[in-house]
Parts: sequence; C-alpha cells; structure tokens
Amino acid sequence: MGNKIKINGLTFVPYLTRERIAEQVKRVAEEIRRDVGQSQPVFICVLKGAFVFAADLIREIGINDCTCSFVRYASYDGTSTTGKVRQLVGLTDDLAGRDVVIIEDIVDTGLTAVKMIDDIKAHNPRSVRFATLLHKPQSSRTGFEPDYICFSIPPKFILGYGLDLDGKGRNLHDIYVIEEEQDSAEG
Ligand code: 5GP
Repeated sequence: MGNKIKINGLTFVPYLTRERIAEQVKRVAEEIRRDVGQSQPVFICVLKGAFVFAADLIREIGINDCTCSFVRYASYDGTSTTGKVRQLVGLTDDLAGRDVVIIEDIVDTGLTAVKMIDDIKAHNPRSVRFATLLHKPQSSRTGFEPDYICFSIPPKFILGYGLDLDGKGRNLHDIYVIEEEQDSAEG
C-alpha cells in the first residue's frame, strides 16, 4: 500500500489495497458467472471511472460468449454531485433479448444508476443487472440497491483504481480517501 498522495491541493490517504480489491472482484465475478454464465451477456462499462474495474471483472468472470459495450454519463463536478445526470456517450449495440450487466465504479446518490437503467430498458433486454465496485448507501437519494457490490463505504470522496479527481488519479492501483475522513469499509 502506498503513502499519502496530493492531487489538486487535496491530500488522500490509502484506503483499500489492490489485494482487497482483487478479492472482492473475484467474489463478485463468481456471483455474476453463476447468474448469467449460461447466456450470452452484454457487459456495459460505464466510462470513464469503471474502465479499470470492468477490465478486471470481465476477465475474472471468464465467459467466452459475452460482448462488451460502453456508455458515458456525467453528474460530478470536482468532489461533489450536481444532481443532474447527462448522457455523454450512448449505446450503439443491439440489446434486445440479451442479459445485460452494467458495470459502474461507484453508486453515490443513485441518480446515474436509475437514469442508466431506464435508458437501457428502452432497448428491450431480457434482464438488467447492476454491478458496482463501491456503494455509498448513506448518500442514496433514490433507494437504488445494486445487485452486486464489492465494497459499501461511508459518504467520503475517494479516488484511484479508475476513479478520479478532475481527471487525475485513475491510474492508481489502490483506492484512496480524502485525509481526515478515513473510515472502515464493509466487504
Ligand atoms: P450518483 O449518480 O450515484 O450520485 O454518482 C455516480 C457517479 O458520481 C460515479 O459514477 C462517479 O463518477 C461519481 N462519484 C460519486 N462519488 C464519487 C467519489 O467518491 N469519488 C469519485 N472520484 N467519483 C465519485
């Protein structure tokens, strides 16, 4: 596990190691394989933050007969949500009759997840499931519950392993939390 890091004048401290992340990715991959392993699922990676998690998770699931797709939504400005969700990159693939698994980095208010599931259901898939690396249940404004969760965490701003602060920090192996706000994660 690394030391403290400074990004855009804010200090972040180590929070979840790459080893703990890998353990939870493996557990969730097994759950997803059990649920959709017999069909030809479509994994939808939510850009940009989920690209590292999705790359690890999809390979760990290890289904030959799957395809991968990408969407992009935006609601965050710096370290806080704006409450408005905009779609920036939409789906081009045919989802009709397919089992869809959305792969997201973090569910905070749940607003992005709810909007995304609505958009995806309009493509007539057979089923829609939602996997997230991180869930902040105390920040929920929607009551939305992901189907698969690697870690439930308190409502603190974190980065690393794909998650950013103004575009920085995505390449970190471990996950970091803003200093003075460290707390324990379940999972
Ligand atoms: P929601 O719509 O659930 O409020 O927010 C989901 C999006 O907000 C995530 O996909 C992510 O881009 C951003 N987000 C929420 N919490 C955090 C956080 O702690 N760190 C980072 N880097 N992004 C976050």
